[in-house]
Amino acid sequence: MAGFLLCFCLLLTYMSDYTVELSSNSHQLQTNRFYAAMDKFDWKRKQMVKYQLRNRGIKDKRVLAAMSKVPRHEFVDSSLRDLAYSDSPLPIGHNQTISQPYIVAYMTEAGEISPSDKVLEIGTGCGYQAAVLGEMAKEVYSMEIIPQLAIKARRTLTRLSYQNIQVKTGDGYQGWAENAPYDAIIVTAAPESIPKPLIEQLAINGKMVIPVGKRDQEIFVLTKTHNGMLSEKTIPVRFVPMRTKSLQ
Ligand code: SAH
Repeated sequence: MAGFLLCFCLLLTYMSDYTVELSSNSHQLQTNRFYAAMDKFDWKRKQMVKYQLRNRGIKDKRVLAAMSKVPRHEFVDSSLRDLAYSDSPLPIGHNQTISQPYIVAYMTEAGEISPSDKVLEIGTGCGYQAAVLGEMAKEVYSMEIIPQLAIKARRTLTRLSYQNIQVKTGDGYQGWAENAPYDAIIVTAAPESIPKPLIEQLAINGKMVIPVGKRDQEIFVLTKTHNGMLSEKTIPVRFVPMRTKSLQ
């Protein structure tokens, strides 16, 4: 009898453990479903916008909305996806980099982009900045001097259905005269001085945002007026140098 009772108790203990196990598995299952529904990159992107942009003073609602939407992880190599929303630039091949999120936001905000604007970007790189501009402007023209990067960026932008962005391989020093004048010009490689054709291709009241300098660079925000260019020096930065054709 005592043996029977012992067996019965052991069986009960086993069954209660089994029940707990079962219910914790189904809880786990529900939790997993919840996290699967919330894309991990959506969450990382929200954190990026909050801590790296909003908390550091980016105020333009349209910049914040665009950067909350554009999937930055789609623009980097798959091995770097988990780092796509980190607070730093990342390599994109050919010795070039995608800029740190804050710098993209800072330059875009300084460009004062409106929904009706036509924008020129110099230095397409992986196409991320172009996509942010594409969310905010009517038309975006982007130039890249390294043909392989231009092809890859075009492919990514097409895959993500950006129909208002055109990418061409060419030397940004010359600008893209056919579609000028531009309401804003954003330059994401650093020349030692401001290229004249870009000034010519800027519309009156248009803004040019451009890093200038050799090693120690600063972002200049230029406004074209009827009486000439107004220029404001802003933050120190480190961009890749703007190349000339002769270096190709
Ligand atoms: N805006 C890019 C990052 C730019 S990195 C992004 O969102 O990914 C700078 C890019 O400028 C590089 O890809 C580099 O090849 C390009 N570049 C350098 N000199 C250039 C020139 N003269 N004309 C056009 N692109 C140039």
